Formats: sequence, C-alpha cells, structure tokens
Amino acid sequence: MTTLPPGSTIGILGGGQLGKMLAIAAAQMGYRCHIYAPEENSIAAEVAAEFTCAPYDDVAALSTFADNCDVITYEFENVPVAPLRVIEAGTPIRPNIKALEIAQDRAGEKLFASELGGQTARFAVIRDRQEADAAFEKVGFPAILKTIRMGYDGKGQARVSEPAAVSAGWAQIGGQPAIAEAMVGFDAEFSVILARASNGDIRFWDSPCNRHEGGILARSSLPAGPLIEGQQAEARRLAAAAAAALEYVGVMTMEFFATADGPLFNEMAPRVHNSGHWTIEGAATSQFENHIRAVCDLPLGATRLTAERVEMENLIGDQAADWGGLFADDDAHVHLYGKGTPQPGRKMGHVTRLYR
Ligand code: AMP
Repeated sequence: MTTLPPGSTIGILGGGQLGKMLAIAAAQMGYRCHIYAPEENSIAAEVAAEFTCAPYDDVAALSTFADNCDVITYEFENVPVAPLRVIEAGTPIRPNIKALEIAQDRAGEKLFASELGGQTARFAVIRDRQEADAAFEKVGFPAILKTIRMGYDGKGQARVSEPAAVSAGWAQIGGQPAIAEAMVGFDAEFSVILARASNGDIRFWDSPCNRHEGGILARSSLPAGPLIEGQQAEARRLAAAAAAALEYVGVMTMEFFATADGPLFNEMAPRVHNSGHWTIEGAATSQFENHIRAVCDLPLGATRLTAERVEMENLIGDQAADWGGLFADDDAHVHLYGKGTPQPGRKMGHVTRLYR
C-alpha cells in the first residue's frame, strides 16, 4: 500500500455526523473528501469537497464515485456489500469488506469474537417465529430480541420477560431474523477503540466508561474507574486479535459489558464511534484523524489523554435546544451536528469537558 499524499481524495460512504467529523479532520490534514450518501441533506456533505447523492446499491453511481476517489472508507456500517465488491477492484476500500460484513451480522460478530477466545452473552439465532420458543428456552428469561441486521441505538430490539411475551417481541421487531440474547447483569459498559495501520501498528485510546439510556449512548467518561481498567487488557487482546484477523486498516470499536466474570463482548463497529468523540479534545490525536491517517497509510498519531479527566455528553433530541447555555459555558467544547429539527432519540450533538 502506498501512502496517499495530501491533496488526495478520500471517499466516505455515509453522510451523517461521523462523516462530518472525518471530513473536518481530513480537511485539516490537506485531504479532500467526497461524501456518498442517499440523503439529499447530508450534514457531512456540508463540509466536504464533493457529494454524490445516490442509493447505496446504485452500482453505476458508485463506480463513478470510486473513479473519483483514491481510497474509500465508510462511516455507516449498513452499506450493502455486493455493490462494493464491484468497485473495490479499482479503488481500495478501508477497512476492507470482510470487516463490514462481520459487523453487519449480530450473530456473525459474536461467533467471530468467540472463535478468537472472547466471551459473549448467551444467545441463539432465530430465523423465523417457529425457532423463537426454542431459542428463548436455550437462553432463558428475561432476554432481548435483537435483529441480526440494521440494528443501532437500541433500534430493532425488544425485551422479552416471559414465554407469553415472545410473540409480542417478535412482532415488535418486525418478524425479522434475530438473536435471542440473555440479559447481562453488568456492572458497567466500556468500549475499546483502536486504530490499526496497514503495517500492523496498533494504537489504543484509553477505554471510556459508557452510560446508555434507552439503548442510546448518553455519556462517556475517563478515567473509567478500577473495574473497567482491570478488564481493559483482556478486552484489548480480543480487539487486537480481531483487527489482525481482519487485516483491518482504520479505527475499530468493540463494546463490552464489564461483569463479575470479566469483559463480555457485545458488538463491534468497523468505524469511528460515538464513544470516541471525546478524543477530539481529550486525546493527542482524535479517532477521526487517526482513521484518516490509517486509510491514507500515514503513521498513526499518539493516543494519550490531554487531561486528567474527560467527560463527553451526547445531546439527544431537545437536549441541544439550550445551545445558548452550552456556548455560555466556557469550559464546554460544543459540537452541534446541524441536523435541523430535533427528534426524540436523535443525536443532535455532543459536549466534551476536560478537567485537569
Ligand atoms: P446494543 O444495540 O446491542 O449495543 O444495545 C444497546 C444497549 O442496550 C447496550 O449498550 C446496553 O446498555 C443494553 N443492552 C444490550 N444488550 C444487553 C444485554 N444482553 N443485557 C443487558 N443490557 C443490554
């Protein structure tokens, strides 16, 4: 892989806030970004050099886009992989399609982690309603139904507390292939965020303690505390093994439950992650910059903390309405994504505070 010099064009599949923050980092480093997204009003396109608005399965549009890019990456993991296979012959895709495929499949990513020695919650695959009762019998109650594909921020999930509630749960997730997953009595949640270069060099950021509300990340804090710090090494071993097995290039995130029996792998994201937004101000090199560095084959930057304590808080729905108050707090690093009308559960921005 040859280093892409500044001035090169990085294609980004996906047009949301992750793409926006990637494009801002890339622009600062002298690279141009070309956003490809199906939505007309892409917030990432507002800060990028070029924008193609087309569906993810439009092979002709994807091919033209690929011809105009020196490398392609993604900020959204639910891009269909078949059309990408057509374009990867001409333009490299980093992280590669294999990583995308594994992360798109809730059961596949758990099996992959287990094969590498990771622990997961008990789960069973359900392809149709008939398989559901046996699956719940295997994992026990209460449990969570999670769709195999397209789930994020708690979407595509239903809690099922007893056998009589299986049918309602199955209807709630739209009767799609899913897993039944045992409820985990975790003490805390954390993520491992790493950047891997094509030469195998890996950098980890310190793992944040992540608090979710209603299935959506509410805040990430560092230091994460003794419980998570005690489980970080084991979780990192799994994440590094996964990244090496996938010949991964870029930033990768794995989410874990910290339990009395050690770290339980929950899911992976083959991309920059919400629990890494604090790295913009809270680390020497942000997840966005290191992702761009990795996909352009530049050396990775240092990941050390820039403060003793870092707090990142998501602004969800109307939490961003008091932007005046946020900007009046001179210690708050305010990020508003420019999404327009707030909707319940929609990530509108985030605020990071550093404490020395
Ligand atoms: P996920 O979409 O799998 O990341 O789930 C979103 C959030 O729901 C997690 O971060 C947890 O807070 C909660 N959650 C998911 N799976 C479980 C589980 N098996 N047991 C307990 N809580 C869970």
